[in-house]
Amino acid sequence: MDFELTDDQERIRRVAREFADAELGNAIAPYDERHEFPHSVVRKLGPLGFLGALVPEEYGGAGLDYVGYALSVEELSRGDASVGITMWAHNSLCTNHIAGFGSEAQKRTYLPRLASGEVLGAWGLTEPGAGSDAAALQTRAELRGGEWILNGSKAFITNASVGGIAVVIARTDPGKGSRGISAFVLEKGLPGFSAGKPYRKLGLHASDTAELIFEDARVPAANLLGERGMGFVHAMQVLEGGRIAMAAMAVGIAQAAIDHSVTYMKQRTAFGQTLAEFNGLQGMIADLATEVEVARLLTLRAAYLKDQGRPAMHAAAMAKLFASETAMKAATKAVQIHGGAGYITEFPVERIFRDAKLTEIGEGTSEIQRLVIARTILQLV
Ligand SMILES: Cc1cc2nc3c(=O)[nH]c(=O)nc-3n(C[C@H](O)[C@H](O)[C@H](O)COP(=O)(O)OP(=O)(O)OC[C@H]3O[C@@H](n4cnc5c(N)ncnc54)[C@H](O)[C@@H]3O)c2cc1C
Repeated sequence: MDFELTDDQERIRRVAREFADAELGNAIAPYDERHEFPHSVVRKLGPLGFLGALVPEEYGGAGLDYVGYALSVEELSRGDASVGITMWAHNSLCTNHIAGFGSEAQKRTYLPRLASGEVLGAWGLTEPGAGSDAAALQTRAELRGGEWILNGSKAFITNASVGGIAVVIARTDPGKGSRGISAFVLEKGLPGFSAGKPYRKLGLHASDTAELIFEDARVPAANLLGERGMGFVHAMQVLEGGRIAMAAMAVGIAQAAIDHSVTYMKQRTAFGQTLAEFNGLQGMIADLATEVEVARLLTLRAAYLKDQGRPAMHAAAMAKLFASETAMKAATKAVQIHGGAGYITEFPVERIFRDAKLTEIGEGTSEIQRLVIARTILQLV
């Protein structure tokens, strides 16, 4: 068993950490307050390779392995979770679906633009009436006169309004269940394709979440992504990697909660001593640090399995479940450690507390992760 990172993995973690320290954290707070997408900051991720993290070098990407990618998501999310989720949806979902299942022509057309950051990517599976039960999706794609005509909508889509390219999952063959679902790649500007107004959210205010809307959207036949009828199967494979990255995002959020708490505990005094000297608070920090380390190990193990080409769905679900619940717990304790200061926007733990909640919901809720884990253990799959 080897717990050492390679030189490349160490390097990518360092670059992400330095970027997060210099460009994220307090620098993103004003965007969060204004519910504004930080275009100028996200633009800087492209030249550093973070927007083509998993894209092979021949298509302009950084060609990272999953361990390196998970480390970079963790570090960027430690700096700011809005930037973390922006990068996650772009890489894990949109770009990865094209890289994994696109034709050679589609890869050459879309990947270099996504990897450079010329355009951001979105990925639409969830619908107003189909979230956890994704196979119940209703968005319809019909082949007419050599074009696919899409009708319906997608809900809660990250990068929907700021993105230029979207992978969309739609029903092509009603009556065939999950085998009647296909994927498409759409560009902004296609007739009948638009994004809704960004939602006002509990947290992640500096990230973009909106509807994708299809009103007789005309999509060229060549934009079918992967084989007809395989869209749902491919989407589930995309989610496997996506869950690992969402786990990494949760680890980053949890680590940030601890880091800010440690700083505060050393500064704040009560009863003639610093908070750091209170046994009760020491215990909280010790427990949290231990749980974050477990979450990190689960995440890196899932990433390692993915890198080895081994089945990772079970490990990814465990990592995502544990890391997201750890993030929420760490954020809650961090607010507690800050007392009243933790409840006001001036201190970063207030934002971290709001941001953490998404990790228990997005990319499959905790209940769905438990379902995935239990089905494997009980051999129900
Ligand atoms: C900020 C944000 C960003 C997102 N980004 C994207 C994106 O980029 N692309 C995308 O496609 N989607 C995205 N989503 C959607 C997200 O994946 C869904 O919200 C999530 O999968 C849950 O689906 P739902 O909201 O429909 O909840 P529901 O499925 O309606 O679930 C409601 C509740 O019922 C529980 N539940 C449902 N089924 C079961 C079951 N079988 N057993 C036990 N409990 C169950 C759930 O756990 C939950 O507690 C995003 C969501 C948010 C909030």
